[in-house]
Amino acid sequence: MIPFDDKFHEECGLFGIFGHGDSAPHTALGLHALQHRGQEAAGIVSYDGQQFHSHRTPGLVGETFDSADIMERLGGDAAIGHVRYSTTGQTALRNIQPLFAEFDFGGMAVAHNGNLTNAFSLRRELVNRGSIFQSTTDTEVLIHLIANSRDSTPYARPDSADPEVVLRVIKALRQIQGAYSLICLTNNVLLGARDPWGVRPLIIGEIDGAMILASETCALDIIGANFVRDVAPGEVVVIDKSGLKSLKPFLTVPSKFCIFEYVYFSRPDSVVEGSNVYEVRRRIGAELAREKPVNGADVVTPVPDSGTPAAIGFAAESGIPFELGIIRNHYVGRTFIEPADQIRHLGVRLKHNPNKASLSGKKVVLVDDSIVRGTTSVKIVEMVRNAGAAEVHMRIASPPTTHSCFYGVDTPDRDKLMAANMDIKEMQHHIGVDSLSFLSIDGLYRAMGEPSRNTKQPQYCDACFSGEYPIALTDHQDGNPPTQLSLLAEK
Ligand code: SF4
Repeated sequence: MIPFDDKFHEECGLFGIFGHGDSAPHTALGLHALQHRGQEAAGIVSYDGQQFHSHRTPGLVGETFDSADIMERLGGDAAIGHVRYSTTGQTALRNIQPLFAEFDFGGMAVAHNGNLTNAFSLRRELVNRGSIFQSTTDTEVLIHLIANSRDSTPYARPDSADPEVVLRVIKALRQIQGAYSLICLTNNVLLGARDPWGVRPLIIGEIDGAMILASETCALDIIGANFVRDVAPGEVVVIDKSGLKSLKPFLTVPSKFCIFEYVYFSRPDSVVEGSNVYEVRRRIGAELAREKPVNGADVVTPVPDSGTPAAIGFAAESGIPFELGIIRNHYVGRTFIEPADQIRHLGVRLKHNPNKASLSGKKVVLVDDSIVRGTTSVKIVEMVRNAGAAEVHMRIASPPTTHSCFYGVDTPDRDKLMAANMDIKEMQHHIGVDSLSFLSIDGLYRAMGEPSRNTKQPQYCDACFSGEYPIALTDHQDGNPPTQLSLLAEK
């Protein structure tokens, strides 16, 4: 048995299109717009009416789909694609999505964003029943569940192509727990699904009469496609030659969209669940300025790029001039999603350079979106001080990140989260700033247009700030992912 990764958090971007002659080129462009959701690997599977074609490699989208030959081989009028990131060294080709499998009903490609919180338990059961796994991703668990499902689902046959296949996918989805946005391509349908809580995003678009599924609206903008609507939490959409059918096969639960998508993860030009991400981040910055002002400051400067909209909001609200005090080199990747610690340290020096003219002799308000490990903050503050800043006051546009995410965003284990191991004074001292303040959780909800956080039934998933996990952590009872060692110990 191939073991799971010790830590298998994945952040991913999805794109799928059905009924367009340029399906693969559109998918490659869509993935290019979603590159911020995963930079380790990219893949596309297309279907030409006779056979499936697949191209998946490690690297950026532009490197993976870099020749006309490759795009020509990905023929057909339907395709799905995936950009991937994982935190461990398990970047082998076998883990790059979309995964593809031949079933008794034909081929199916599957691409998944999120994390299944009972994947270990399901995988163990499946292996005990004879399943043989090819990869170490939890997505393959779903493939085996589909293979083992038969149409005993107590749900009406969908009025679509491949109704048996759709029912088998629904039956498989009913067995999994966790956060998922999912797209599948069969011989006849493009299927999309969101978990009942709707933790991860998935939207519907349209171009030239062809339907699209994607993680964010920026993937529609790049190809000039129209936004249709979000896939609803717990909704399964089935797209075939006759159009789109909507199914609601799960029990309704309160929706728990990931609030961290607004804080950091989504692209600022995307419209997520009806809200423009850039505008939300500006409002977050304004809330932060009201809650945690810095009197007598000379400049507000962002940690680029993710702190920029909040810094603009902070500066506008406080009346303190906004300056680009740190210049980012855009030709290196985002440090938050590069795997190795050594690379993170190196990455900060590669990426940022202080703009001395904006910082020297100034009382600086430094705005960042969040503090996770804190390693980047330490380097950035050192850089700003070396550029001659008289005082550095750090303002963070989210509450302290005290808990790990088990639903698909790469926050590390708690022992590596700075706010889980230090109080604010200790963090201030460790980072080396004159003051450090975070946005309150109610302030974050106010920026989202809510009066405050509903403590009985929070409107979003905010578990990395609150520790209140809305979906059962079946395989994570101690708040940590199960390791290969703990699995062996159980046997
Ligand atoms: Fe998003 Fe945090 Fe919830 Fe994970 S734990 S889904 S990052 S809000």
